[in-house]
Amino acid sequence: MRGIAFIGGDGPPPDLCRLLVEEAGRPSLLAAADSGLIAAEAAGLRPDWVLGDMDSLGDLSRLEAYPPDRVLRCEADKDYTDTELALNLLWEKGCEEVWLAGGGGGRLDHLLAIRSLFERERRPSRWITAGEDVRSVEAPADLNLAGAAGSLVSVFPLGPGPWEAESSGLKWPLAGLPWDRGFFGVSNAAEAGPFTLRAIRGRFLVIMPLPPSPAAGGGKVIIDGRAAARKIQDGVKARCAALRERGTIPCLAVILAGENPASLSYVGAKEKALAEAGMASRDYRLGEHVSQGELLSLIETLNADREVHGILVQLPLPSHISVDSVIGAVDPAKDVDGFHPVSVGNLVLGRPGFLPCTPHGVVVLLREYGIPLSGAHAVVLGRSGIVGKPLANLLARRDLNATVTLCHTGTRDLAAITRQADILIAAAGRPGLVSADMVKEGAAVIDVGVNRVPDPSAKKGYRLRGDVDFEPVAEKAGYLSPVPGGVGPMTIAMLLQNVLQAAEGGLYV
Ligand code: NAD
Repeated sequence: MRGIAFIGGDGPPPDLCRLLVEEAGRPSLLAAADSGLIAAEAAGLRPDWVLGDMDSLGDLSRLEAYPPDRVLRCEADKDYTDTELALNLLWEKGCEEVWLAGGGGGRLDHLLAIRSLFERERRPSRWITAGEDVRSVEAPADLNLAGAAGSLVSVFPLGPGPWEAESSGLKWPLAGLPWDRGFFGVSNAAEAGPFTLRAIRGRFLVIMPLPPSPAAGGGKVIIDGRAAARKIQDGVKARCAALRERGTIPCLAVILAGENPASLSYVGAKEKALAEAGMASRDYRLGEHVSQGELLSLIETLNADREVHGILVQLPLPSHISVDSVIGAVDPAKDVDGFHPVSVGNLVLGRPGFLPCTPHGVVVLLREYGIPLSGAHAVVLGRSGIVGKPLANLLARRDLNATVTLCHTGTRDLAAITRQADILIAAAGRPGLVSADMVKEGAAVIDVGVNRVPDPSAKKGYRLRGDVDFEPVAEKAGYLSPVPGGVGPMTIAMLLQNVLQAAEGGLYV
C-alpha cells in the first residue's frame, strides 16, 4: 500500500495532488496538513487524516469537517512536526511506500531534515517539493528551464519505469540515481542560471518555483514576497538559536479578543511562524465580552513579565473597547507591532524604535528587489494609522529619501496622481481599485490590500483579491506584488524580526 502526505509550507498545487493520487494507484492513504489540506480539498480529495494547525490561508473550521479521531494536531515547538507526524502515521498504518508532497517551501534545511528522516527509516519514500511551475517530460526529450537560483527543484518519476535521466545546472546530478528502488533523490537545488533535464528513459515531472527574475521578454517582475520573507525568517531563526544558547528564548504574548475568523487565521499564522523560528508564544484568547479593564490588567501583567519580550494585541477589538487605550497601555519596549504613539513618534522623527510590520515589510521588499527609492516619487493610497500613514512617513525619511504623495478618499483625480508614481503602493482595502490606466509604464506597484471577494467556485465561497487589477497592471508595471504571496508574508517576517530585536534588548532602527 502507498501513502501520500500533502504538507503545508507551500502546499502542492491541486493539479499535482490529483496527479499524484492517480499515479500512486488506489487505494492510497492520505494525510494532509495546512496548505496541503487546502490543496487536497481543492483537488476534490478527502484525506483519511488531517494534521496540524492551519496557516494564514487556512480556516480552523476546516478541521471540524473530519471525525475527531482522524484529526491530529502538531506540537508547535518542533521544526518539522507536521512532516514527521504525517510520515510516522503513514508508516504506522503499514504503508510500504510514502510520497510526501509540498512542505519546506524550497528551503534547503527542510530538505536535509526530511532526507535524514527518510534515511533513518530506510523505507522507500519520495518527496516532492511544491512549486508553481510544473512540467512533465517524456523520454527521449530535453527540457530547458530558466534557473531559480538556489531554490529547490523536484524531479519525480511518473508512470511505469525504468527511469533514467541526467541533468545540468542542478547541485546533485540526476544521472545514476536509483529511481527504480523508489529511493529519495527527487529534490534538488538549482544552481544560478538555466538547468536542463534530459529524460533518457521514462516519464518525469519537474516542479520548481517560478524564478523571481524578469520574465522572458517583457522585463516584468512579479515580486515573490514568500521567498523574501523566508530569507528573513531563516536569518531570524539563526539569530534566535544563538540567543537560546545564551539562555534567552524570545517570547511573544498574543492577545485575541473575540472570534473574528480573519483574526483567528492571522494569529494562527503568526504563532506558527514564531514556532518555526524557535520562538515561544503565549496565547491569550479572550471572549468577545471581555471588559476593557480585564484587557488592560492583562497587558499590565505582561508588561511586568520579564520572560515576555513582545506583546501583540490582534486588531480589530470588540467595539466596546477603546483601541487607543489598549495600544497605549503596552510598554513601548514590548510594542513589536509598532502601533504605540511612542513608536509612531520615533518613526516620524527618524529615531530608533519598533517599525510597524506591514509598512516595514513593504520597504524591505522594495529594497530586496533593488528598486531605487532615493529621489523616486512614491504614491501611497490609503492613510490608515497602521499602513498608509506610517508607510508614507517611512518612505520620506532621510534614509530612504523618496518624495511621497499620500492619497485618500478626499483625493481629487486620483489617476492623475498615481500615473506620476515611480512606486505605487495600494493600501485602500478596495478590490481592483488600481487599474492599468492609473499606472505609469515600468512603475513598481506594491499591493497591500487583502480583500475577500465572493467566489461561488471557491470552497470557502470567497477568494482573496488585492487592491490592484492584477493581470492588466502586470502587463504595464515593471514590478508587481501579488495577493496572496506579496506583502502578507513580509508582515509576519517583520514581526518575528521585531520580537527578536526586543529579546536581544535593542530596538530596530
Ligand atoms: P483602512 O480601511 O483603515 O484604510 C484604508 C484607507 O484607504 C483610508 O485611509 C481611505 O481613505 C483610503 N481609501 C479607501 N478607498 C479609497 C479610494 N477609492 N481612493 C483613495 N483612497 C481610498 O485599511 P487598512 O487597515 O490601512 O488596510 C488597507 C488594506 O490593506 C486592507 O485591504 C487590509 O486588509 C490590507 N492590509 C494588509 C496587510 C498585510 O499584511 N498584507 C496588513 C494590514 C492591512
